[in-house]
Amino acid sequence: MTDILYTEPEERTALREAVRKLAGSYGHEYIVAQARKGEKTTELWRDMGKHGYLGVSLPEEHGGGGGGIADLAAVLEEAAAAGAPLLLMVVSPAICGTVIARYGTDAQKARWIPGIADGTFTMAFAITEPDAGSNSHNIITTASPDGDGFVLNGRKTYISGVDEADAVLVVSRMADARTGNLKPALFVVPTDSPGFEAQTIAMDFAAPEKQFNLFLDDVHVPQDALVGDEDAGLMQLFAGLNPERIMGAAFSIGMARYALEKAVAYAKERTVWRDKPIGTHQGIAHPLAKVKIELEQAKLLQQKAAALYDAGDDIGAGEFANMAKYAAGELACNATDVAVHTHGGNGLASEYGLGNMLVAARLGRIAPVSREMILNFVAMHSLGLPKSY
Ligand SMILES: Cc1cc2nc3c(=O)[nH]c(=O)nc-3n(C[C@H](O)[C@H](O)[C@H](O)COP(=O)(O)OP(=O)(O)OC[C@H]3O[C@@H](n4cnc5c(N)ncnc54)[C@H](O)[C@@H]3O)c2cc1C
Repeated sequence: MTDILYTEPEERTALREAVRKLAGSYGHEYIVAQARKGEKTTELWRDMGKHGYLGVSLPEEHGGGGGGIADLAAVLEEAAAAGAPLLLMVVSPAICGTVIARYGTDAQKARWIPGIADGTFTMAFAITEPDAGSNSHNIITTASPDGDGFVLNGRKTYISGVDEADAVLVVSRMADARTGNLKPALFVVPTDSPGFEAQTIAMDFAAPEKQFNLFLDDVHVPQDALVGDEDAGLMQLFAGLNPERIMGAAFSIGMARYALEKAVAYAKERTVWRDKPIGTHQGIAHPLAKVKIELEQAKLLQQKAAALYDAGDDIGAGEFANMAKYAAGELACNATDVAVHTHGGNGLASEYGLGNMLVAARLGRIAPVSREMILNFVAMHSLGLPKSY
């Protein structure tokens, strides 16, 4: 019984090793070099796709590996732990691939999933809006029926990887003919559509993946751009948001592993007091040990969330995906901070590649859902406290 609960299947362990080897052959140096040159990580992305790693959780009949979100999270964690995280895995295969696989028509699956799985077709995901922010219920991007399809108008912000994407899965609202209320609906919008404009947002950390403001100005899409049922928009959206949180956690956990490994190696080797390395001193060893404990805690939460999701328990997965994302976000911030501090002055030198990570790790506290919104969720849903917002 213990084995079933706490040991990953052999296939996943082998998958982890294979991904670590491939991503490690590119390494953190590759990511840093691409970011500094303002270039993308297409080569690594395509390589991961070719080996079946990007599509590991997508259906086999459409070119995927037929595994679960636990497998996809293992891929992202290992890539990040090797110093080569791929942020767009959170959106393209995990959110968009999952939503289309679960709610798309056969034609939509056949059209989009093979490319998402092998990395030749990338789909970004757009829900955040400037005036809605954490309150997604306030989004105003609207889809209206228009001849043989729909016309979309609105604005999105902080959308990752639009320059690398062939299309964006846009969360918009439609007028409900029965109630008059607006309800969410998901549309696949090609990035070369007339009326679709993307502007880069300058960010204070260097990463190959860029962030964008999107402007949708009378963008026409055909009827089959609508993914899923108009009447089940919220349920479809949540089907994508649990994988998003599980993958966000995997991203942060992998980054924390990378930072911890580097810090431990440095603490064992750096010697400034006679012949004892700095790791001998508890002032250095204890923060590292604390990060290790926090890492194992976050991993357990993430694995439980993924196991619940893969078992079809969306509600249970929702609670644990939120808690895993919270724990992993805190972990990545603490791990990068401790790693920088363990390196002393070298921690902020470009050569060691940790200073930039200190800022990048904070993303795990903000996106895809902020720390405070998770605490609101846990207070209300797990503890039964009154709604605060
Ligand atoms: C690098 C990056 C990549 C991103 N990629 C994507 C993407 O690909 N697609 C996409 O759709 N979005 C993306 N986002 C957007 C991200 O999901 C949002 O930034 C996040 O949900 C927070 O929204 P906000 O920035 O509008 O903050 P706000 O909602 O303005 O919140 C500001 C602060 O107030 C706090 N706050 C807000 N409401 C409450 C409350 N009720 N109680 C307590 N505290 C509260 C928040 O926790 C936060 O600390 C990305 C963001 C970043 C930074």
